[in-house]
Amino acid sequence: MALYAELHRHLGGSVVPRVLWRYFQRRNEDLAAKFPVYPEFEEFYTRPRNTLDEYLELHTLVETVQTEQALPYFIYRLIRGAYIFENLAYLELRYTPYLRTPEHLSQGERIEQMAQIVEIVGKASQAEDYPIVTSQILCMHSRLPSEVNRAIVELAVSYPEYVCAIDVAGGDAHYRERLDEFVGLYDYARSHGLKTTGHLYETVDGCYPQLLPYLMRIGHGIQIPLKYPELLPQLAANQQCLEVCPTTYFKTGTLENLSQLKIVFDRCFEAGVDIAICTDNAGLHNVRLPFEYENLLTHDIIDFRQLQACQDAAFRHAFAWPHQQPPASLLTSILQKEPPEAQSIYP
Ligand SMILES: [Zn+2]
Repeated sequence: MALYAELHRHLGGSVVPRVLWRYFQRRNEDLAAKFPVYPEFEEFYTRPRNTLDEYLELHTLVETVQTEQALPYFIYRLIRGAYIFENLAYLELRYTPYLRTPEHLSQGERIEQMAQIVEIVGKASQAEDYPIVTSQILCMHSRLPSEVNRAIVELAVSYPEYVCAIDVAGGDAHYRERLDEFVGLYDYARSHGLKTTGHLYETVDGCYPQLLPYLMRIGHGIQIPLKYPELLPQLAANQQCLEVCPTTYFKTGTLENLSQLKIVFDRCFEAGVDIAICTDNAGLHNVRLPFEYENLLTHDIIDFRQLQACQDAAFRHAFAWPHQQPPASLLTSILQKEPPEAQSIYP
């Protein structure tokens, strides 16, 4: 039985359009008035954008409503959908905690409030009816001051029960001038036992080899096989995994056709670099993880054997999966075992 691991999903982009729209109708008069009819909202929310920056603008719409009070509402629905419709056994959820604190507070007050956000997300993720193993990745942000980013890393270090890793998000073109700062923060994180990933080599404007040695996984990284395949043997030797999110590149204008995605997979397989297939923003795209898999098969980007290799890689590179094997091998032995007595559970 196939159960999946999702390694790259943003809390902001994880809300499916129907859940977000219904939330507006129930709890937010202004946004309900702005989007009175569902189909129009879905069209607005899921349509492709021209650039990564334009696409990231949409996150701000969700961030403003994902307040301390509203987070449990959204997370419960996220976990429920992931369990019921996506067969997820494992989910790493990422977000920038600072951007979930009230904007009217001072920077210092907002930093103080971040711990509360981590606890709210942690508790809300443990839905009894939908038992998925979850952990959080806290995202530093390319547009936030270094004090805030440092506080995010320190917070991650102090919450091992909820947080497994750090990331840098906000568009890979925007931290070019601050590479030394992020190298320092990643170095600090590694020295405190945190796991690391980072949005890097997603677009042609975000290729920084200096940062690579600090990352255990690479958020996207598709420009490496496309433009810098000479780096692949080094990635394979360091067992760094790419988190490839197929739908994203067509929503952000980063790729133009599927044949480019085939090059990404082919070159990685050839070089022995693992790929975990992820959704990035399953809600914003309205594409759940099993459909990402199916799309890749349908369009002949990968075959079934390669798909299974990617699914296994996702569990191998999961930062907080507590077992030695993926769930399929655990379950198969249970499902195929003869019951002790031939006692039917059916009437
Ligand atoms: Zn992402």
